[in-house]
Amino acid sequence: MKTLRLGATELQVSEIGFGGIPIIPLPRDEAVSVVRHCLDAGITFFDTANMYTTSEEKLGIALKGHRSQVVIATKTALRDARGAAGHLDLSLRQLQTDWIDVYQLHNVSNEDALKQVLAPGGAYEAAARARDAGKVRFIGISSHSIPTAMEALKTGLFQTLQFPFNFIENDPLQELFPLAVRNRVGIIGMKPLGGGLLERADLCFKFLQQHPYVLPIPGVRSNKEIDQIVQFYRNPEPMSEADLKAIESIRSDLGKKFCHRCEYCMPCEQGVQISSVLMLKPAAKRLSREGVKGWLGAAMETAEKCVECGECEQKCPYKLPISDLLKENLALYKHYFSA
Ligand code: SF4
Ligand code: SF4
Repeated sequence: MKTLRLGATELQVSEIGFGGIPIIPLPRDEAVSVVRHCLDAGITFFDTANMYTTSEEKLGIALKGHRSQVVIATKTALRDARGAAGHLDLSLRQLQTDWIDVYQLHNVSNEDALKQVLAPGGAYEAAARARDAGKVRFIGISSHSIPTAMEALKTGLFQTLQFPFNFIENDPLQELFPLAVRNRVGIIGMKPLGGGLLERADLCFKFLQQHPYVLPIPGVRSNKEIDQIVQFYRNPEPMSEADLKAIESIRSDLGKKFCHRCEYCMPCEQGVQISSVLMLKPAAKRLSREGVKGWLGAAMETAEKCVECGECEQKCPYKLPISDLLKENLALYKHYFSA
């Protein structure tokens, strides 16, 4: 497998990485076997997060004995230094390692979150201290908001950026990725398959191969899925006219209902976790019933609180009919998952 260098870091990684969410619902032995199959296929970049419940522990078991061959990235969603330092120590234990290659501040997707992590006593301080102590090699950030990610990169404090990127969520190509490339920040592309919403994997990877400076981290839960993806990279095919038409058709079909998880609509005064509720369908395609309940159950309950004030719809740059989508997703959840 070809490799790429992550921005200005000295990390040389396989041209596709591993996203750690889909192994959450797998039994431990099965998850370990999937990760080891990735290793055998030549994947050397493994991304996870404290928030992904059992993912770190499963990766730790699978990667034991292979530590020097792989690059491990994990994240904390806590905003304060004390909490983040605690998370980091837990990650080190669960991953069975003495160091994290890329420690990311997770889902910093609005101005307040960015201010909190960068403030004195914020999570960045803990990450920087850990880097000085040799527990962390590079510090990264993950985000769903272009303006927030732009602000974060302008500080010069982050060596990697993790951001959603696929042929539907291609807005970062306009300003964010050019800024990252100029600043030599390594780009990790999350949700290369639209979080499970995009069914044509061939189109997804053909699109991504046109942007080889982005490291995509597809989530996989079976050896068959890995083999299929690796095949796209061993035998890359150019984008055909028919592919471009198919992409346009999928874009126009999904465009009206596709939540980009940019969080511009937040906060909702009623506490509705809008983007999480709108993730129900892609999550249902990838996770088991129990996995969906565990992952989104609490968020789905917040949908009940929507009073249809319409404020979020005014803020959504994609003009999504959010109230209707919340109702539709809640009804689906009640019908299929909460019974
Ligand atoms: S319409 Fe519903 S989800 Fe949107 S801001 Fe109002 S209460 Fe919140
Ligand atoms: S509903 Fe709209 S504003 Fe809110 S996260 Fe989704 S795409 Fe962004």
